[in-house]
Amino acid sequence: MKLKNKKTAFDSFFLHQGEEGLTAFEKGMEQVSNKLKEVYSDTEQPFIGKTPAEIEKEIAGIMNFAGEGRSLQKVLDEIEGPVIRNSLHISHKKSMAHLHCPPLLPGIIGECIIGTLNQSMDSWDQSTAATYVEEGMVEWLKETVGYPGPSDGVFTSGGTQSNYMGLLLARDSFCQNQWGHNVQKQGLPPEFHRLRILCSEDAHFTVKKSASQLGLGEQAVITVKTDEYHRMCMEDIQNVLKRLKADDMLPFAIAATCGTTDFGSIDPLPELASISEEKGLWFHVDAAFGGGLLLSHSHCDKLKGLEKADSMTIDFHKLFYQPVSCGAFMVKDRRHFGFLSHHADYLNPLKDEDDGIVNLVTKSTSTTRRFDSLKLYLSLKTVGIETFGEMIDRTMELARYTAGYLEGLDTIDLKNKHPEINTIVFRYKPETEIGIGLDELNRAIQQSLLHEGKGVIAKTTVDGETFLKLTLLNPRTSEEDIHELMDEIKKTATQLMNGGLARV
Ligand SMILES: *Cc1c(COP(=O)(O)O)cnc(C)c1O
Repeated sequence: MKLKNKKTAFDSFFLHQGEEGLTAFEKGMEQVSNKLKEVYSDTEQPFIGKTPAEIEKEIAGIMNFAGEGRSLQKVLDEIEGPVIRNSLHISHKKSMAHLHCPPLLPGIIGECIIGTLNQSMDSWDQSTAATYVEEGMVEWLKETVGYPGPSDGVFTSGGTQSNYMGLLLARDSFCQNQWGHNVQKQGLPPEFHRLRILCSEDAHFTVKKSASQLGLGEQAVITVKTDEYHRMCMEDIQNVLKRLKADDMLPFAIAATCGTTDFGSIDPLPELASISEEKGLWFHVDAAFGGGLLLSHSHCDKLKGLEKADSMTIDFHKLFYQPVSCGAFMVKDRRHFGFLSHHADYLNPLKDEDDGIVNLVTKSTSTTRRFDSLKLYLSLKTVGIETFGEMIDRTMELARYTAGYLEGLDTIDLKNKHPEINTIVFRYKPETEIGIGLDELNRAIQQSLLHEGKGVIAKTTVDGETFLKLTLLNPRTSEEDIHELMDEIKKTATQLMNGGLARV
């Protein structure tokens, strides 16, 4: 006998076992989709241009939860201005500030399925099919990277978590091999203050942050000088290693960068792999940005040596065009995940392992975890690997074009004439003395473009001076967009120089 579903007062808030929920779901999706369509059909600028104080005030105005629940349509109408229109419109062709990508539509739609299914990746009994999708995507990534059979990986919230995991495994593996010391059980060994990690001076700040969280302190990170292309200098790393040896220090890992945040530089991976092997160091590669070249047709050779890494970081919410957050951590020898695993009776008892049940919590520093691999799966399948590579190559081509174009402009000081990936670092530099500092002028240009909604570009510091940066992730951005942007920069600079900086 089929039991009739008893109606409750909450039926329109949940999806399963009741007509009301199904109807509300359909209606809600339609309302959301109409609202976003409406906004994006008449939003011409990447940013509305309001000040932080103005936006903060508008948001404060909608932070009221007292009283009865409102209809979804009403709430959507209420957030349209303050939240949706005041957001940074990252899919706009002139949004080119950070390593922050326009999300692919299959990724966005994937988010909807991910939220609906709400699987939790920690144990098989909370992600009965999702566990195998994630494992399948890890398998795909292994093949794409050229990683050997015993390698393994897990999805993470991004580069910060992946770098932390890499250095954690490096630390624990070293302590195990050096002293038979088990950090997981015993805490740091007495000699911990001698442990050292090497990275370039252009490495991501999360290397230092990880060292501090690993109990080694930022003092454990020794930065190696970079060459003129912002790559780790091979001569300096040899000197650093000699000095560390003379000082009786214990270097245990090299954290190479494959795609630095500002210049997209790629450290010499094959050479660093050899040095690591020779000196018995763990070789971690932070390919959060550069990993995107895995699918490139014309630039994937830049990743040579990546497959030699003991562990690596790859972000999908950068050059793989996924909605935040989506990343992976990969390790060459899966046994190293043993340093992370803990068996909780309620979640992943050892008995499960004996029975062949896969509980992914054993590979992660997180417990509850999103089913992010699904959006990458949907994107690769619907866009197709071939087209995916073409999108990345298009951004590389645009970066090369932009570098050439900027080099020809006489008021532009271009820092990277040959962009390694797709970032361009430059600044406006008038030919005559202007009475204000160039740092101040360039900061003002960036702010002014943002507040007039003409373009969202970044600022950074190179050798102590302020520069502007374009991160050209959007394959739809055209040469004309770049011309227009540079015209705006010139116009803004002229206005600022004539009118002073007061108006910004
Ligand atoms: C973005 C980035 C990170 C940090 O990753 P999140 O995904 O923001 O946590 C680390 N390293 C590099 C090189 C990056 O580009």
